[in-house]
Amino acid sequence: MISPGVKRNLRRAYELMRARFGHLHWWPGETPFEVCVGAILTQNTAWTNVERAIANLKAARVLEPKKLFALPESKLAELIHPAGYFNVKARRLRSFLRVLLLEFGGDLKRLFAGETSVVRARLLAVNGIGPETADSLLLYAGGHHSFVVDAYTKRIFQRHNWSLASQVHSPKPAGDYDKLKLLCQAALNQKAHAARLDYWQDYHAQLVMVGKHFCRTRAPRCDQCPLQPLLPKN
Ligand code: SF4
Repeated sequence: MISPGVKRNLRRAYELMRARFGHLHWWPGETPFEVCVGAILTQNTAWTNVERAIANLKAARVLEPKKLFALPESKLAELIHPAGYFNVKARRLRSFLRVLLLEFGGDLKRLFAGETSVVRARLLAVNGIGPETADSLLLYAGGHHSFVVDAYTKRIFQRHNWSLASQVHSPKPAGDYDKLKLLCQAALNQKAHAARLDYWQDYHAQLVMVGKHFCRTRAPRCDQCPLQPLLPKN
């Protein structure tokens, strides 16, 4: 059971953020494949660096599964250099591409086909893809209802005392990431199936906006933040 207060606050939080920022139309990417590449490259780096790496891949005309996989790992690392941790990310991209090409014929629709939990497990089995990346792929490239939790989400929820996720029933023992994800999914389920995808996509984007511009690690700017009315009163 989620406390009605937390559920109400989570829904109200979206209204407040949306009123401030408008619909954010995330995630940048011209194709689902570009979204996948971006989601893997964005680990531990700012999106502007990912954009530069993707621009390099486009300029080299290799932003498609077969061509990208055909590149030697060192050349791939060179092209994605602006995204940082380029050797690790080149390996991770190649792991993803290997599964996509060898198990699903290079067809993202086939990779994303099936129950969300099954596809999620499939993605988590790829070397270097953790829960946040898997959920970004599912939500923004695969059209699956899978809420994304990131460091901003954790910080905002903690500061507002919304991290009551352990109260949410889970069929399996869940770690902190999954608890928060289940909390969001259970609390933010009021919209019809089709509208919920856009809602969850935009909800995560709005939290990133708040996290980046207001809810900083040190000296949060609560007085200017759209979520200020929802701060705990103590
Ligand atoms: S900046 Fe303050 S009001 Fe905004 S989300 Fe963080 S803790 Fe809440």
